[in-house]
Amino acid sequence: MADTDLMPIPGLVDPVPVARSITPRADGRIDLIGLPKAAIRQLFEVAGLDAKQARLRAKQVFHWLYHRGVTEFEAMTDIAKVMRPWLSERFVIGRPEVVEAQHSVDGTRKWLLRTADGHDFEMVFIPDADRGTLCVSSQIGCTLNCTFCHTGTMKLVRNLTPGEIVGQVMLARDALGEWPKGSMEGLGDAEDADGYDRGHYTADGRLLTNIVMMGMGEPLYNFDHVRDALKLVMDGDGLALSRRRITLSTSGVVPMMARAGEEIGVNLAVSLHAVTKEVRDEIVPINRKYGIEELLSACAAYPGASNARRITFEYVMLKDKNDSDADARELIHLIKQYKLPAKVNLIPFNPWPGAPYECSAPERVRRFSEIVFEAGISAPVRTPRGRDIDAACGQLRTAAEKKSRAQRDREAAEAPAE
Ligand code: SAH
Ligand code: SF4
Repeated sequence: MADTDLMPIPGLVDPVPVARSITPRADGRIDLIGLPKAAIRQLFEVAGLDAKQARLRAKQVFHWLYHRGVTEFEAMTDIAKVMRPWLSERFVIGRPEVVEAQHSVDGTRKWLLRTADGHDFEMVFIPDADRGTLCVSSQIGCTLNCTFCHTGTMKLVRNLTPGEIVGQVMLARDALGEWPKGSMEGLGDAEDADGYDRGHYTADGRLLTNIVMMGMGEPLYNFDHVRDALKLVMDGDGLALSRRRITLSTSGVVPMMARAGEEIGVNLAVSLHAVTKEVRDEIVPINRKYGIEELLSACAAYPGASNARRITFEYVMLKDKNDSDADARELIHLIKQYKLPAKVNLIPFNPWPGAPYECSAPERVRRFSEIVFEAGISAPVRTPRGRDIDAACGQLRTAAEKKSRAQRDREAAEAPAE
């Protein structure tokens, strides 16, 4: 079994363990999924190709991997036959292993996936009339402890690698049978593939049209890997999904928000969930570190936010906790005070075993929504999806218990003094 090296992230963000970006394999071959074209080229050079060959082969292989979704080097028909075994002796085309696939009565699908080093995580696909959204995980578990979130009861096992993140999208395309079938003509051995039609991936008629980084984990605590994976998703010769169809949700990792806008440039969603320091400190504990004012200032400065590309504020409706008329009015006040191009997404709380909250009554949710709407801010109520298979927001969880505070204190007291 491959081991996972843990090292701290330097700099402003909290030190959390991160995995190296490639998980080593027992057979010594290298998994190409998750690598950009330049890295593939470099590997080909190290393996013995001259610079020109390495460049051409990297270009071809990249296209087959990310645009066409092939899982065998043998299928790369424009690569010379003798070259294909050379590739498969040295490299593999990985996918996360599917441990279980579940279907909800409402059409939502959830996959339990496993990494090469044996850790489980989940991804969810939510089909709608006009779109299909894949909810992608960024970490196995989460370091944060939002009190209403099931993932928050897991400890952080490790960050997902770029390959494991983009691998979720690739697996979904495999499962939905949605790889483009465009012609490969023109991408021969010639260096210059001018006039080649890459058959751009369009949303028309497809099931998978949108991606949300709203699965397990806090994407901005795994910034580099999430960025590198999304670059492959957005690359016109990669999965070719428009950045406008991708949304990254953060609980409020303020120091990373500007970089997310500059280096990834996708739509931003912010898990606000409360409008007072007291309540947000309690239910979204990262608020004790980066408060509401700091968070909303970072939103106001988010590159690319505009009336056409609004920031989504997610707001979970918790009975008697954050759902009063006064809360709704304070929410409007804050959005106006910071002049935010915003929309609000009201999420009825999704229950999980042992959760300390109840969902607000439907009438309360409706009233809250109306108040915000009347102030000219869009505030739809999100229909819960996939609750019957625990696939709804905040219900994702695999093994790896987080120890309770009492348990940690007890262990600390029992530990021998150093
Ligand atoms: N860590 C990121 C993204 C993953 S969570 C974040 O917190 O933004 C995706 C969304 O589901 C977040 O807005 C989160 O607050 C919300 N959520 C978590 N638990 C929930 C629950 N039990 N019911 C409804 N929404 C929940
Ligand atoms: Fe982590 Fe997001 Fe859940 Fe909070 S809501 S515990 S940040 S996954």
